[in-house]
Amino acid sequence: MRWYDGSITGTLEQLNTDFLVVGAGVAGLRAAIELSSVGRVLVIAKDSLRESASEYAQGGIAAALSNDDRIALHEQDTLLAGDGLCEPDAVHSLVASGPAAIEQLIHWGAEFDREDGRLLFAREGAHSRSRVLHAHGDSTGQEIARTLYQRAASFPSIEFRSFAAMIDLTVGSSGAVTGSMVWDAAAGTRVEVRARAVLLATGGFGRVFRDTTNPDVATGDGVAAAFRAGAEIADLEFVQFHPTALKIPGAPRFLVSEALRGEGGRLINTAGDRFMARYHPMGELAPRDVVSRGIVSELRRTGAEHVWLDLTHLNAADRIRTRFPRIYETCLRYGINIGIQPIPVSPAAHYSMGGIRTDLEGRTSIAGLFAAGEVACTGVHGANRMASNSLLEGVVFGERAGRAMREQWSAATSAGPRVVETFPEIAEPALRLLAWEHCGVLRSGTDLQRAIELLDVKTSPREGAARADYELRNLHTVAGLIARCALARRESRGAHYRTDYPEKRPEFQTHSTIWLGGDVEFVQFKSSAKTA
Ligand SMILES: Cc1cc2nc3c(=O)[nH]c(=O)nc-3n(C[C@H](O)[C@H](O)[C@H](O)COP(=O)(O)OP(=O)(O)OC[C@H]3O[C@@H](n4cnc5c(N)ncnc54)[C@H](O)[C@@H]3O)c2cc1C
Repeated sequence: MRWYDGSITGTLEQLNTDFLVVGAGVAGLRAAIELSSVGRVLVIAKDSLRESASEYAQGGIAAALSNDDRIALHEQDTLLAGDGLCEPDAVHSLVASGPAAIEQLIHWGAEFDREDGRLLFAREGAHSRSRVLHAHGDSTGQEIARTLYQRAASFPSIEFRSFAAMIDLTVGSSGAVTGSMVWDAAAGTRVEVRARAVLLATGGFGRVFRDTTNPDVATGDGVAAAFRAGAEIADLEFVQFHPTALKIPGAPRFLVSEALRGEGGRLINTAGDRFMARYHPMGELAPRDVVSRGIVSELRRTGAEHVWLDLTHLNAADRIRTRFPRIYETCLRYGINIGIQPIPVSPAAHYSMGGIRTDLEGRTSIAGLFAAGEVACTGVHGANRMASNSLLEGVVFGERAGRAMREQWSAATSAGPRVVETFPEIAEPALRLLAWEHCGVLRSGTDLQRAIELLDVKTSPREGAARADYELRNLHTVAGLIARCALARRESRGAHYRTDYPEKRPEFQTHSTIWLGGDVEFVQFKSSAKTA
């Protein structure tokens, strides 16, 4: 089947469109399809159209579709994983829409793996049933993105531009978002794009941390731009660290799926001990956050850089190669044959549960601004996301946001005055190391306070600023927000672990929110986002 080449460049001129969709992952593409019948849609991506977390998602997409499954079970599992912070309405919307969303993807051409014509369902951590559909073994996100892109590209009303990075949102005198300033890499210039409504579908912010499974584009641009524009940001302290990312000097922190532990893979420290039983009765199959903490504790204890994920005792080299072709090929490229050699792994930042606070239709606290996918915080994942729920989130909430935007027919007004841009004086590797060491898997009040102090650097204007400068500014903003939210949450819950407050505390069974110029507040979500 035809696949897109990933780059649709061409100089952007100052332009008006009806809808601006920032991001070409599953959420942005799904929203664009929904908008295609009511106006002109411009989808921009700051790199090639294929450079997104969606493209790298391996394990699968969850939906209650198998014979022994029910929506209520998917709902219950998701709520449990979220550790008391999931918004029940959001969870219900997600899981109840799952089966129809999958059927629609299949109708549009998505090829999920089957046996004898019947869909195959895998079981993953925290799921009480086998409900995870996968495609081409471990290339599920790529297959869904390909399907959505082909569908979107079939509508003449949708235009795509790659290598076009949103720098900032533009806000009119009424306080509504009027469009965005875009860095057009092909021309090396800034362009103002005006739109009646803007959707941020910019994905996560894993690149804030030294170690991450996320692609280079995941620099938190959506959260940072929305924050600067005055939007409400929520739950940023909840960052999921995946326990097993490849750890080889010079290699990307490629994700080694937990499905390998599901197949019987063992975690062994550099002294040769199988250690996970010391941290949790479920051993290697404990929840992600527990396994990540177990590994980091071992690394601190032994001074090693990685532990081993070992499959060699399974004597199943052929089966592993066919079930996990992408992981097999990637590890082989770095000299590891996973069927017969242990894999060096350690935790890496993987997924952000928090983001721009939205209601269930993607509305943010600012008129004209919508958000969907990983950049948004509907409360659907609570304090910890259940594996394979986020591709589904992108598809379901992308569609809902697109539908809500169709009703947004406010006249596009001109943008307010331009603010002088300043950039932090800190090198990117230093910033990412700081975030990793002070706001990573194991946190403490002292470390978080120190992070806030270290991030308090001078900022200054920069001549000829380009994409990397804007990204650094966003990484700096998001790192500061994570540190402040994590410091304020004096408990451990879900993916957020404080060594000085190791227990869950009932008074914190609320969401953290923060606004420009404000302090962190803990609030219950109502059914819709606050309006500024
Ligand atoms: C390695 C890996 C494996 C994963 N495996 C799974 C899995 O098996 N199942 C699952 O459910 N989830 C998985 N996830 C999580 C899931 O892939 C993501 O949460 C989901 O794909 C996010 O989709 P999205 O559309 O919100 O954002 P993304 O797919 O990340 O897309 C973001 C888009 O925004 C663009 N963008 C960003 N900033 C700007 C800007 N300033 N201007 C213009 N464009 C911009 C990017 O270029 C990109 O096009 C995985 C994630 C990773 C990293």
